[in-house]
Amino acid sequence: MTELKVLEGKDLTRIERIGAHSHIRGLGLDDALEARKNSQGMVGQRAARKAAGVILQMIKDGKIAGRAVLLAGQPGTGKTAIAMGMAKALGEEAPFAMMAGSEIFSLEMSKTEALTQAFRKAIGVRIKEETEIIEGEVVEILIDKPASAGSASKTGKLTLKTTEMETVYDLGAKMIENLSKEKIQSGDIVAIDKASGKITKLGRSFARSRDYDAMGPQTKFVQCPEGELQKRKEVVHVVSLHEIDVINSRTQGFLALFAGDTGEIRPEVREQIDGKVAEWREEGKADIVPGVLFIDEVHMLDIECFSYLNRALEQDMAPILVVATNRGITRIRGTNYKSPHGIPIDLLDRLLIISTQPYTEEEIRLILDIRCEEEDVEMTEEARDLLTKIGHETSLRYAIHLITAASLACLKRKGKEVDIEDISRVYSLFVDVKRSTQFLMEYQEQFMF
Ligand code: ATP
Repeated sequence: MTELKVLEGKDLTRIERIGAHSHIRGLGLDDALEARKNSQGMVGQRAARKAAGVILQMIKDGKIAGRAVLLAGQPGTGKTAIAMGMAKALGEEAPFAMMAGSEIFSLEMSKTEALTQAFRKAIGVRIKEETEIIEGEVVEILIDKPASAGSASKTGKLTLKTTEMETVYDLGAKMIENLSKEKIQSGDIVAIDKASGKITKLGRSFARSRDYDAMGPQTKFVQCPEGELQKRKEVVHVVSLHEIDVINSRTQGFLALFAGDTGEIRPEVREQIDGKVAEWREEGKADIVPGVLFIDEVHMLDIECFSYLNRALEQDMAPILVVATNRGITRIRGTNYKSPHGIPIDLLDRLLIISTQPYTEEEIRLILDIRCEEEDVEMTEEARDLLTKIGHETSLRYAIHLITAASLACLKRKGKEVDIEDISRVYSLFVDVKRSTQFLMEYQEQFMF
């Protein structure tokens, strides 16, 4: 391995689960990190959300690494929702990797390998590179006489020193022609149609936007800060250590990432990569971006995994580990000992524990409203009241599930809005846990033992 290959662009750790948590867009906190009542798809659970926000702030400030957080609470109290909110609030750069405790039990790789991969998915490497500007790319063109605030740029003289770059040069000439028609100021980002030279102003934040790719090859992007046109530019991309591992360890390279068929990665490969990354850090070419690894249903891990976690958290590049469980005092897998949350005491002692509380009826109502909107379901007030009552008496999750089912029932009777009758219909079609248990108690002798 002479040169490390780095995958550009795609951030595979960020593939989201659509469905259950698609309405969550952040933690819904204000600038003082207080939880808003209903914001970014989040309702209630204010203390837990605030605590999660404080931890995120510390991560962003680079104040903590290698810490672990436990989200503990009854089923359906929003532990996964809060973890998803953290991922969203963390921003684009820091990686967020998510797994369920049960995923480590695979025939393809050992438990520790699965955990190592998960950890390395949550460690980002921000790599800075200098590259040549090529055609069809974002380049920086500098205007030395930018427009004064509010008025159009006069001629917007461009400094085009890299005349070898013909396309950029031509573009520059056309840009001068068209510049006076648009109010373009220093620092603006503009798109230039290569054929017509037409300039479209895109706003300053556009450079980071996804719309970039959507503009097609006809469009050139030019940014106009003060200074000179550069032939070379610095590009920064963040990839996870796991991505670097995979593309350097397999013949099929990065395709393995898409197939998910990464297999076990040899320790020598990782050692080499860690060495190389350390070198880049020393030379100022790369930084580490610790992300978040979320392990849901952490009680499914066994004693070997817990011991691995203890050790892994001590490494200097360790991400923030967030684990969640809905178990109380239970057996630690792989032992005969019981422990709170099924987690050994020594690991428990390292965790910051955030507990989630059951929702009030009002909060359930708000969450159901958000879900109705998310699923594009129109529902009458009475039906919402009934569904809220059901949610309060059974579980939030059961009530959320009934939304889709009731909207199908409504569609079947060609109704426009989900009404009480649709809710009652699906309530009798699908039983909740309590009624199912009751049924089993009544008829248990007729089931197989
Ligand atoms: P379990 O212990 O069973 O895994 P959980 O605590 O992880 O449960 P979630 O899956 O997060 O619970 O919550 C159940 C559903 O309710 C999800 O669809 C989730 O997005 C939604 N939800 C939970 N809490 C909130 C909240 N505070 N605001 C908005 N939606 C929420």
